[in-house]
Amino acid sequence: MRRFTFAPDRLAGGRVTFDRAETHHLARVLRLGPGDTVLASSGDGFDHTVRLETIGETATGVVIATRTRAAESALSITLVQGIPKGDTMESIVRATTELGVARIVPAITERTVVRLDPSRWRERARRWQRVAKEATKQCGRAVVPEIEVPRPLVECLAACGDATPGELSLCVWEGATVRLGGVLDRAAGVTRACVLVGPEGGLSVAEVEAARARAFVVASLGPRILRAETAGPTVLSILQFRLGDVS
Ligand code: SAH
Repeated sequence: MRRFTFAPDRLAGGRVTFDRAETHHLARVLRLGPGDTVLASSGDGFDHTVRLETIGETATGVVIATRTRAAESALSITLVQGIPKGDTMESIVRATTELGVARIVPAITERTVVRLDPSRWRERARRWQRVAKEATKQCGRAVVPEIEVPRPLVECLAACGDATPGELSLCVWEGATVRLGGVLDRAAGVTRACVLVGPEGGLSVAEVEAARARAFVVASLGPRILRAETAGPTVLSILQFRLGDVS
């Protein structure tokens, strides 16, 4: 059975609404129709058997069975990544997908050099989403991490929410005195983590303070300055090792 994907918020009341791209694939490429059954993964670690109901611009279907994906970490990590220049974001998307990231929120920060119109940012997000899809296949994962459309950092921080029990919001900053190890010693029971990493020029002090005001713990990764493409994958590895499925 071919596998499809949809974002978790497209599932409501036991009914899935596929996006246009997946609908095109279902209906036009594979010529599936009402009554056909497909396997679909939501970005949150579940596989659903879905019986198609309607096909239009966005196909809908009813979930008839759901199971957890074995290859997904019990730790759901969102990476809020300050957008770096050049192709760096692609390598961050690739590496963190391999390391089991659940969602990437590209953030437009003070020191993000690239400035684009909203439509061009959407185009970028689609490109990064394709990179995530390729990396997902290559590393044997079935759940494609969701790559959001870039937004200003303040909005990204708000989307991460204030840390609730079981959730850790972390800002890694080279100027921090608090060390990550100590933070994780007190993080037993955490199942959701949101991590903010700056672009190559780093985060401004105001941005670090904005994260702190949103209940982010500001921590250091040690005495060396890591490049943007190293920092994200490093935090992912550490979190998966301490709280996730790398051992
Ligand atoms: N502004 C810095 C480098 C930024 S490195 C400079 O030019 O000197 C890119 C990002 O990686 C940073 O914003 C931070 O989030 C993360 N980072 C790099 N080294 C780090 C460290 N030692 N501790 C915590 N975070 C680090």
